[in-house]
Amino acid sequence: MSKNCLCLTAKTIKRNLEILNKYRKFADIAELRVDCLDSDERLYIRRFPELAGLPVILTIRRDVDGGYFSGGEGARVKLLANGLAYANADRRLNFAYVDIEDDFDVPSLEEAARTFGTRIIRSFHELNGTIDNVPAKIKSMQRSGDEIIKCAYAVKSTSDVLQMLKASRECPNQDKILICMGHYGIYSRILAEKFGSFLTYSSALSESEVPGAPGQMDVRELAELYRFQKITNKTKIYGLIGYPLKASVSPWFFNTIYNLENTDAVYVPFPADSISHILEIAKTLNVQGLSITVPYKEAILNELAEITPVVQAIGASNTISHSENGWVGDNTDCAGFSASLLDFLGKKNLKNQKITIIGAGGVARAVASEVFRLGGKALIINRTIHKARNLAAPYNFRWGGLPQNGGDTKVLDLISKYNDVMVQTTSVGMEGYEASDPLELYSFTGKEAVMDLIYTPAVTPFLKRAMMSGCKTINGYDMVIRQACLQYTRFTGGEIPEKLLVQVNISGANAWNKIRSA
Ligand code: NAP
Repeated sequence: MSKNCLCLTAKTIKRNLEILNKYRKFADIAELRVDCLDSDERLYIRRFPELAGLPVILTIRRDVDGGYFSGGEGARVKLLANGLAYANADRRLNFAYVDIEDDFDVPSLEEAARTFGTRIIRSFHELNGTIDNVPAKIKSMQRSGDEIIKCAYAVKSTSDVLQMLKASRECPNQDKILICMGHYGIYSRILAEKFGSFLTYSSALSESEVPGAPGQMDVRELAELYRFQKITNKTKIYGLIGYPLKASVSPWFFNTIYNLENTDAVYVPFPADSISHILEIAKTLNVQGLSITVPYKEAILNELAEITPVVQAIGASNTISHSENGWVGDNTDCAGFSASLLDFLGKKNLKNQKITIIGAGGVARAVASEVFRLGGKALIINRTIHKARNLAAPYNFRWGGLPQNGGDTKVLDLISKYNDVMVQTTSVGMEGYEASDPLELYSFTGKEAVMDLIYTPAVTPFLKRAMMSGCKTINGYDMVIRQACLQYTRFTGGEIPEKLLVQVNISGANAWNKIRSA
């Protein structure tokens, strides 16, 4: 099984041991990054494996490979030799692994390492892009049978991750560490086992030290939320496709449920710049079901073998699951939205309610269709006006553009006639997007019931203004949990047991916010 390797990047041995002791229960291996140590501390590395009490990788990363060692190669060889010197017959007191680069050529040092059971990790780093032929590179790097080959490159797109996954499949019997550095590669770290990687590197991100490399995950999050050490070839994979995907509650929600019910499954974020490439990755990894979020709810339709009537009606899918014929698209935003809104309003339907829907993207399609189904009358306003018009047409709703400073403000009169309920569905104010208010020219009367579908942050500038004006307000957290419960059913055919849901909801938003602020 793939191992969780805690990367230690403190300036002193003492501090590294403090960090290791704090996070020990989450890590299988530690990596001592000697290049991060103060120069005088580097004299004392030899005793580190004994003090650490778990297998340790000795690494002195050069600055050209993304590390901090800027001395000459002679000085580095001397330091490595110090780390491997006075080898003990009790192997636990020696470094278990030493990381040496592909172009490093000091046979005597390698020989000394092998003699006392220190395994060589032969590494290659490409910080500015990918490698042309990864399988060929892996094969060419190996000098003796017991080495672990490490290939790390910076991924700038989903196709870069796909290339690494294919390479892994082409070298099934080679002990290897494959690292996709950067945001697009995050799931390759969580699913290291499925990528055939001997280990994944993590850092203690809540400490002040620098992470070992760009995109490394938190050691605790990997172990506790994703249950990294329990992922095997049999573990079922689910996940979420979108971009930028920095603030979704879904991984926390699904993984907490799987953990509580002891299901052998993991739910991972799949940030993607290409639907077709990410679906190829999903197919290769045998992913069972996927949530779809911004900006792919409409684009995903081109990739589906079947769609449910609700997707047919609204033209957007937020849930896809695997069938014999291919992916089946469904939409749980509709039911999640209406259940949350009706509960919030304390109503059974929307008859006699005049509603402004702000936005005409993927989720607005679900909102408009539910408002219509429940008997409400709506005005849809959107930055791109023709999208508001197209969305409004089948329901005979009113439509318009967003009121703009120095531009068209006539729509404000119309909004004041459709202001029993206001539903904000744009991405404006969401974490990762601009923190502004899409309707700043509208003055709330205080009588509106206002729902903002965004839940990260919990209060957007728009929702805050509504609250300050005395409006009744709700954010999108309740809706996202309701629609996720429905997704769970689409994925597994079962329902989340009430008892577990209560357990999750007790910690609910608080736990989620704690994770995010950690
Ligand atoms: P989408 O399909 O990408 O649509 C984005 C919408 O935001 C479009 O109406 C777009 O207008 C508008 N927009 C984006 N940037 C804008 C800007 N700078 N100024 C004005 N309008 C702007 O995304 P989506 O899937 O509909 O999701 C939209 C939001 O809803 C996201 O924040 C998402 O997190 C949230 N959401 C919440 C839940 C929940 O369960 N709580 C579920 C789904 C979605 P144009 O048409 O002019 O581009």
